[in-house]
Amino acid sequence: MKIAVVEGDGIGHEVIPVARRALEVLRPDFEFFPVEVGYGKWQRCGQAMTEEDMEALKSADAILFGAITTPPDPDYRSVIVQIRKTLDLYANIRPVSGKGFDIIIVRENTEGLYSGMEKIEKDSACTVRCITRKGSERIARCACRLVKSRRELTIGHKANVLKSDVFFRDICIAEAQRANVPFRECYIDALCLDILQHPEKYDVILTENMFGDIVSDVAAFLVGGLGMLPSGNLGDRYALFEPVHGSAPDIAGRNIANPVAALRSAAMLLSYRANDRTGAAAIEEAIQQVLARGIRTKDLGGSATTTEFGDQVIRELARRSRT
Ligand code: ATP
Repeated sequence: MKIAVVEGDGIGHEVIPVARRALEVLRPDFEFFPVEVGYGKWQRCGQAMTEEDMEALKSADAILFGAITTPPDPDYRSVIVQIRKTLDLYANIRPVSGKGFDIIIVRENTEGLYSGMEKIEKDSACTVRCITRKGSERIARCACRLVKSRRELTIGHKANVLKSDVFFRDICIAEAQRANVPFRECYIDALCLDILQHPEKYDVILTENMFGDIVSDVAAFLVGGLGMLPSGNLGDRYALFEPVHGSAPDIAGRNIANPVAALRSAAMLLSYRANDRTGAAAIEEAIQQVLARGIRTKDLGGSATTTEFGDQVIRELARRSRT
């Protein structure tokens, strides 16, 4: 399997090497190649991503992605949004699990307010929230497939205010009924509070693009913060795995970032792309072992550096693969 490794910017340079090492230990059969995109590249070449970079990403079986810092350029188009659109990575899967809860947030990844249809004029600005039947049906089907092996679908929306969410909600309900999946619906603002108060009530949560982005950052509170949450961006042909967090410029270069989200993204790559559930479980168990020894990065109240935490996880994985 060929894996494109995009560190990107900021803490991407610190956490992605840890995730890559975990994959190298577990899967010596994988081939890795770097692709450089992001703010650093923009500073050097005036372009954050070239057509050749996109072709390189297309040539991979899976992409392990860090995070990109947004360049200060009004004409700049987000690299990750471009990649999601070009590779048609329409399903953003964000698992959030902890003691007593096991949630998967399924976020539509190509439409809504990230449509790119927007303009700024002198006295007004406008972004079009575009939601299509095709886009809603396929993300709803994806969520229903995940529910099948789980309990219930919750459709998060704001249909009491937004016509585009009436459209989205109705299509999601029709798909859930067709798939014979138990479902309920919830206003997204109420959901953001309730998920914190009663996380055990939730199983698979389905939303459009921006609401999914927001509710997953809210849900990060349940597991100790953004340093813990992984994600998979899946399409019918391509797949990209990245931490939910961004490039965190405020802590970049200090070797204090938490590499768990990146490690879990590598685990998702194994289970969703390589059908290697054993390898994915090994990464999660190794993380739990290291946390149980009280080794934690600063965001979790500890003093371990990114490399110290990473080394412990890699040592644990190497020990397991020898036995
Ligand atoms: P971006 O625009 O790239 O999303 P951001 O700074 O708005 O960047 P994040 O990069 O997600 O958003 O960071 C939000 C906060 O969470 C920051 O204070 C950051 O330091 C913290 N944070 C994010 N990821 C981690 C991590 N892996 N370990 C520790 N702290 C993190």
